[in-house]
Formats: sequence, C-alpha cells, structure tokens
Amino acid sequence: MLSDARTPLGLGLAAALVAIGGIAARAAAPDPSADSAGPAAGARPAVALSAATPARDPEVAARPLAGRVVVLDPGHQLGNRHFPRQIARPVPAGGFTKPCNTTGTATDGGYPEATLTWSVARRLERRLEALGARVVLTRTSNRDDRWGPCVDARGRAGAAAHADLTVSLHGDGSTQRGAHGFHVIVPPSRAPWTDDIAAPSRRLGLDLRAALHGAGLPYATYVAGGDGLDVRSDLATLNLSDVPVAMVELGNMRSRVDAARMTDARGRDGYAAALAAGIRTFLGRR
Ligand SMILES: [Zn+2]
Repeated sequence: MLSDARTPLGLGLAAALVAIGGIAARAAAPDPSADSAGPAAGARPAVALSAATPARDPEVAARPLAGRVVVLDPGHQLGNRHFPRQIARPVPAGGFTKPCNTTGTATDGGYPEATLTWSVARRLERRLEALGARVVLTRTSNRDDRWGPCVDARGRAGAAAHADLTVSLHGDGSTQRGAHGFHVIVPPSRAPWTDDIAAPSRRLGLDLRAALHGAGLPYATYVAGGDGLDVRSDLATLNLSDVPVAMVELGNMRSRVDAARMTDARGRDGYAAALAAGIRTFLGRR
C-alpha cells in the first residue's frame, strides 16, 4: 500500500538500476560532462555497479534523467465550470472534434479533479526535476478564474516541448457501486494520428501501470477489462500527441476508498512517487 514506505523505495532503486544500465550502454559516446567531477565524488552509492561502470560520473548517476523532457498534463482547470461557452467550443480531436474541455469530476466531499491532478502533477514535477529532467506543464495554475487549455493544445504539448513523453493525469467519476482503482489509457495504432506513437505509448502505459500496481494500487474494477490498461481512440490528448503518451485515471473519485487517498497529501505523494518510478523505467530503456 502507499503507506508502506518500502514499496516506492524499492521501485525507485529498481528504476535507478535500469536507468544507470541505459547510461552505461551509451558510455562509448563522448560525454561532455565526463571530466566535471562533482562534489559528491566520494558518495558513489552502489559498489556493485562499479565493476560494470568504472568511469561513472557521480553527477550523472545522481541525475539519471538529465537531458530528458517530460510533459505533464494536469487534467481540466479549476475554473472550467465558470466558462461553459469557452470549454464547449469544438476543437480538433484526431479526425473529429470534441469540446475544448470539461469541468472534470470531484469526490463526494467536493474535492475537484482539477485540484487532484494539479497537486499530483506538481509533486511529480519536483521528483522528476530532482532526477535531472526538464518538466513542462500544460497549465501553470489551478485557479477558479481560469479555464482550459483545450484538449487539442494538451495533445500537441509534447511535440511543442520536444518532450520524450507526455503523461496526462485525471481522476475518474464512476457512480457504479463499488467502482474503484486506477487505469492507464493508451492510443491504438491509427493512421495518420497515432500509428507513429502507439508502440512506445503502450510501453509507457505498461511501465506506469506496473509502477502504480507495484505501489499497492489496485486495478480499476469497473473499466478496462480489470487489468488496468485501456486502449482508446476517442481522446484528443492522446490522438494529437506526436510523442509517446499515456493518460492515467488515478482512481475513481466517487469511491470512498480512492477519495480518502486522493484527499490526503501522503496519498497524492504516493501517486507521484509511483509515476516517477514508471517514467524512469520507461526512459531508462530508451
Ligand atoms: Zn478528467
């Protein structure tokens, strides 16, 4: 479970080993930072790795995502409900149109989806930046007097930022009895929209699913066939992406169990830790 601090730590270590292995495989290429021995030179953590990577730069090891760019898309915007005309405007969605955005859902206690996705995105941003990545958010505020951006802009954000990947964050709103758990949504291969990104997007989705499940989160009980992975061609955020993309429905906000995690800062941090581990795994083997 998320309250078990050992689980995310274990995941993080596994992801670190994968990432370090990926860097080591490219060690033959000139490394511009190779001669910049950092102050942490004496703090090389993993003795077992030194045989395979004798010339590892501890600065690089400490920032395994240096040079990587990640777009995070916190779903919706807090003020969307005040701008019904603006968010209803049809926008391109990948061969069809969809409304610019929606209000999003909320817990029964009134905690909004926009705030959940914003909080998890900011926590995930901090974790990824600490690993050396550059993070670009599709919105820069969570405010009741703002709306958007539209789903087409969210979908195109990855290419605009020259990102390695996009992760879109949402919370679901099923009123089905007992419905709870997370699921990850990836695009199918559909020319000319997603045939170029379907395969790596699926790998990203599988890595995120494994990380979330490994952190103790259950697969959604009410959607996606019960295995936590859905494939959908109707989402502009996925269809318009030109970089690997996955959407994560962190849980069902109408579930009392999921809502308890979502409204707790430690719960949201648990989501962020697991997502960071999944992103590291994905980037580590590219
Ligand atoms: Zn949503």
